[in-house]
Amino acid sequence: MRMIGLVGGMSWESSAEYYRILNQGVRDRLGPTASARCLLWSFDFSEIEALQHAGDWDGLTVRMIDAARRLEAAGAEMLLICTNTMHRMAPAVQAAVTVPLLHIADPTAERIKTAGFRRVGLLGTAFTMEQDFYKGRLSRDHGLDVLVPGDDDRAVVHRIIYDELVAGRVTADSREAYRGVIARLVRDGAEAVILGCTEIMLLVRPEDSPVPIFDTTALHAEAAVAFALSG
Ligand code: GLU
Repeated sequence: MRMIGLVGGMSWESSAEYYRILNQGVRDRLGPTASARCLLWSFDFSEIEALQHAGDWDGLTVRMIDAARRLEAAGAEMLLICTNTMHRMAPAVQAAVTVPLLHIADPTAERIKTAGFRRVGLLGTAFTMEQDFYKGRLSRDHGLDVLVPGDDDRAVVHRIIYDELVAGRVTADSREAYRGVIARLVRDGAEAVILGCTEIMLLVRPEDSPVPIFDTTALHAEAAVAFALSG
């Protein structure tokens, strides 16, 4: 079993889900006492989100590369960045290490294509919904047609992530707000919805959407299990 390296703490609420899904996946495949071989580098998210909102992507890239190198030096044989947003610097991180970095968008897109969908709604941070690094990978590399919510809806989705979900707050009001955003994406033609922020799975359940949802946290962690056990 390959050693999985996790660049996490962004936030720890979702890193805890990664840890649970990785271990559950290995147990399901190898038996009740089996668990994932893994290393976690966990950031203080208050530092990360301050740099994000200041637009200091260079400073963030330095930190992601440093974490990735430390994990590789400690024995990681593959890496996961446990957040969609920080995949903005995925190419720089991959270039700085020799072990493979499993990009979160790839297993997500593969599963969507296998299910036969092409037009997908994307929920995530404003950075993920508005910048090209993520939408571009879905459309250019995978041929998906990506819809994002309108201005007001993007602001709501972003605010709930940073004010509530990363702080462990899950409320019925916010779930209702997300249900509304999803309904408008579906009205505009989305055949499926990507939960493109690793905390959204804490809030949104399949029954909150009239179309299938694709949870990046679970799909990324499951892809890591498959890769870890394939070698
Ligand atoms: N975990 C979130 C994501 O998947 C947001 C936190 C972050 O900005 O890293 O994008």
